[in-house]
Amino acid sequence: MDHQALAALLFPHITKTIADYEAQYPPRALPEGAVVTRIAPSPTGFVHLGNLYNAIGERLARQTKGVFFLRIEDTDQKREVEGAVEALMDSMHYYGIQFDEGATVEGEHGAYGPYRQRQRKELYQTVAKSLVLRGLAYPCFCTEETLTAMRDAQMEEKANIGYYGKWTNCRTLSYEEIAKRIEAGEPWVLRFASSGDPEHMIPVQDGIRGELRVQENYTDFVLLKSDGIPTYHFAHVCDDHFMRTTHVLRDESWLATLPIHVQLFDTLGWERPLYCHTATLMKMDGESKRKLSKRKDPELALSYYRAEGYPPEAVQQYLLTVLNSNFEEWRLANPQANSREFTFSLEKMSSSGALFDLAKLDHIAKEYLSLQSAEFVYEQLLAWVREYAAAEEAARMEQQREFYLAALRIGRGGEKPRKDFGSWRQAYAFLSFFDRERFVREDACPENISPAHKREILSRYLETLDFADDAVQWFNKVKEITDAMGYAVQVKKYKKNPEDYPGSIVDVSNLIRVAMTGRQNSPDLWEISHVLGEEETRRRIAEYAEESGDV
Ligand code: GLU
Repeated sequence: MDHQALAALLFPHITKTIADYEAQYPPRALPEGAVVTRIAPSPTGFVHLGNLYNAIGERLARQTKGVFFLRIEDTDQKREVEGAVEALMDSMHYYGIQFDEGATVEGEHGAYGPYRQRQRKELYQTVAKSLVLRGLAYPCFCTEETLTAMRDAQMEEKANIGYYGKWTNCRTLSYEEIAKRIEAGEPWVLRFASSGDPEHMIPVQDGIRGELRVQENYTDFVLLKSDGIPTYHFAHVCDDHFMRTTHVLRDESWLATLPIHVQLFDTLGWERPLYCHTATLMKMDGESKRKLSKRKDPELALSYYRAEGYPPEAVQQYLLTVLNSNFEEWRLANPQANSREFTFSLEKMSSSGALFDLAKLDHIAKEYLSLQSAEFVYEQLLAWVREYAAAEEAARMEQQREFYLAALRIGRGGEKPRKDFGSWRQAYAFLSFFDRERFVREDACPENISPAHKREILSRYLETLDFADDAVQWFNKVKEITDAMGYAVQVKKYKKNPEDYPGSIVDVSNLIRVAMTGRQNSPDLWEISHVLGEEETRRRIAEYAEESGDV
């Protein structure tokens, strides 16, 4: 075969050589050990947790004074959704991820672009042409039907599935045959001519998993599809070489095709990047673990966390907790520090299914929000209410800024701050009792308080209530009412002889709590009363005293 002639036939329009691109994209002048890494999402409209997960590479780049960039893998036009690139960028921005270079909303930024794969067609074809020239790639005219029949025959024979060995129909076509078929307008794909030996195991270093041994690739996989657009495999190798990527962080599902990628790097004589295959996101489903699924699990979409109102920093802390075995310890030692200060290491990444658990996220988010200022919580909550709840509610919240700040200050700031909510949705629901228009009594009156006692306790409470009292005086009055009504002031005594009392001070307090907040569980009542003001406090107590049945 005259490879020169074949290359000219297949790529008449390609005049550049690999050397031209080597000159255009020189090795980066960066300090020793600098990490150059990227995320390379496909614009399918679905921004998932994995995108944020792999954006952890940004930390490696920052820690080493390297580069973090965004490449858009838009080779599959059929799956592309309008606005997907913008949505992705917006999402990354929301989580505070910053790219040094790559695709941007306006276009792109950086000297190693274009950063959208469809604009790099000429580069891929130049590399493809070089492989044809070396006799390492050839056109294949097999139709879908031929390939299906081949697969069926392979299954029948219990042979491995794929284009290899005796099944490579097009590998031995003559130049004349190829020229004739191209002339006739037959579509073709370009295949790699593999000489790999399936018995041969290749060592590959993985930044997370250590040394892997993978079977050498022996299949003639597709480099370019019939429209001249590369497959992921080929584009990844060309791009990560010419963009001078040092670390490829990607999902472990790519381990299956890793042999193809290393074969290409090695064949082209290019240094392999350090692959870092991150563990697939899993969740518990009953007793067993399974992969998070786009169809079944809304929490796989990054938009879920934003719509629920989980603060981005809490989501980041959650991710780090799940992914990095030493993050939790660091956070305990540095509860107030931003997670960006944590030194991230690949070796500490988990390599087996990372287990996701929303209860854990809630826990982390509650912890995080309990440490934030009332002002921060108010501003962020307001923004969320405006976007995800109702604009008119946001307007009311805005008018009552001081009121809400006072409400949010209750139980905040001390040694043991309250952890009432982990998301803006939860905060909005939690704060509803402060809002006259949203206030409803969710809990019932403690069940050991009779309707007559309920009326009596609340009317005594109203009679003795004095807003000039301090918290201690106030509580003493609650104790007096408790005692006068025959309830146990000391819980211990009540527990010892419950039959001697209708209930204890806990029940009496809870009754007042339900009257005031609609719940049996709430922050400090005295403080709540002072935020609500005397008039509203009296109104709620009186209203509940009169209410005959319980809600
Ligand atoms: N487009 C690929 C994906 O979304 C990128 C994988 C990689 O990072 O190389 O899975």
